[in-house]
Amino acid sequence: MPNETEQLIEFSLYINGKWQSAEDNQTFNVYNPANGQIIAKVSKASKDDTVKAITTARKAFDSGVWSRKSYQERGEVLTQFASIIRKNIDEIAQLDILSSGATRRKAYSDPARAADLIDQMVKKLHQFAHVEFLPTVGSNHNEVWREPIGVVSAITPWNVPLMLAMLKVVPALAMGNSIIVKPASNTPLSTLKMAELATQAGIPDGVFNVVPGSGAEVGDVLTTHPSVDKVAFTGSTEIGKNIMAQASDTIKRVTLELGGKSPAIVLPDADLDIAIPGILHGFCFHSGQICMSGTRLLVHDSIYEEVLDRLAKCAETIKVGDPQSPDTGMGPVISKGQLDSILGYIDVGIQEGARLVYGGQRVIVEGLEEGYYIQPTIFADVHNDMRIAQEEIFGPVLAVIRYSTLEEAIEMANDSIYGLAAGVWTKDVVTAKQIVKELRAGTVWINDWHTMRFDAPFGGYKQSGIGRELGEDVLYEYTQTKHVHTSLARELDQRPAYSIF
Ligand code: NAP
Repeated sequence: MPNETEQLIEFSLYINGKWQSAEDNQTFNVYNPANGQIIAKVSKASKDDTVKAITTARKAFDSGVWSRKSYQERGEVLTQFASIIRKNIDEIAQLDILSSGATRRKAYSDPARAADLIDQMVKKLHQFAHVEFLPTVGSNHNEVWREPIGVVSAITPWNVPLMLAMLKVVPALAMGNSIIVKPASNTPLSTLKMAELATQAGIPDGVFNVVPGSGAEVGDVLTTHPSVDKVAFTGSTEIGKNIMAQASDTIKRVTLELGGKSPAIVLPDADLDIAIPGILHGFCFHSGQICMSGTRLLVHDSIYEEVLDRLAKCAETIKVGDPQSPDTGMGPVISKGQLDSILGYIDVGIQEGARLVYGGQRVIVEGLEEGYYIQPTIFADVHNDMRIAQEEIFGPVLAVIRYSTLEEAIEMANDSIYGLAAGVWTKDVVTAKQIVKELRAGTVWINDWHTMRFDAPFGGYKQSGIGRELGEDVLYEYTQTKHVHTSLARELDQRPAYSIF
């Protein structure tokens, strides 16, 4: 049961439409990164609890209680789910602010966007080719049926807890699958709340389960158990590789949304009044803890120092502080470990010979001295082969690299193991489109950053992932295809393919 006593929030596991303690009564603490204090106690699923959730999801799927409902019926329940989410925006947003450090501005928009995502998915459900009739050939009738895959396990990260779970839950449910979600241990709260709301909306018991717990322990079962048909993962490339290997033993379908080190190219004619705040938004939004953050900036020689100067001046205007305050632009990073890792990368940058032009320090916020705040940080004179240009830092750190020809800029932009996003800042959109053709990334922005649409696919090239979330593409990721051939030929001699006789 979610239970808020004084300040401590309590959540159990959510299995078969009910709150359940872990079988060994283990719990773990969730901390508020804004002040380092414990805010919640959550049941910690064991391997046995995870198997129980999988078995429940399998039973629910096989019973047809959800999987065999018509898509219109599923759409009606999902629409109800969206409406219940809209009535609970305040509670859901607070759970994410308290556990992930998201600013008020960001956290309050996420539940509303989750509800919009459901509406969009229901619309797509009605347009989707669930059954496709192929042109008749002779006396053969052929159809393509798109059916749910079965039991999906989803493993999600801490940076955008609600949305990254919903990007999997919504299409999985829309297409008739059952799902078990393992949220990140830092931020399980909003996902647990969503499962409860789904039950209230009429999603049948066992169809949407949540098992918080250790990545290694719960994750191991979710990626290897034979009753799981598909694994949907968002997280680091390192763990993604592990998951892909584990899932291969039982040939599970896998979608992976992984890390990034996204480059933005600034052309000499860029409108810097827009580009400068856009670049800062690109790497500082959510304190830089966004997979598609624009963390490598390739700037033409002719405007290099001007861009650095203006970036530093504009960075000064970002308010770092309490995420609950409406005028805060950057809240804390998720944990002491993450803060130390970012500060470690800043040291690496200095040792590699990059020039620190802004930031680089921990910020101590009055009244929240134990929180994990850090300045926006800008490095100049970065070479693309430095670690701060190649490794995902997952904090508000920008590596600014100089280029003199477009070919050189494109080559450096592509010289990364990642390919999640990229961008071009220029007034010349024709040139921009030519550059976009050369960029190996799943999303490319021209004169913008971070803007997403639910009807456009999202995912990575190269080691940034496999498969797509959002758009129509995602519906295919949660269905499998059955070809149904019917012969209407009554006579054997009308079946020339029987060549053995
Ligand atoms: P992470 O360390 O890879 O963890 C992600 C999830 O995997 C967590 O739930 C974690 O559980 C679980 N996990 C850990 N070890 C596991 C194992 N051996 N087997 C199965 N699951 C395991 O990533 P993170 O630090 O939470 O998130 C940051 C990363 O996510 C960044 O690399 C970022 O780029 C990426 N990301 C990508 C996208 C995208 O759409 N491409 C979006 C957001 C974030 P615990 O929390 O219990 O350890």
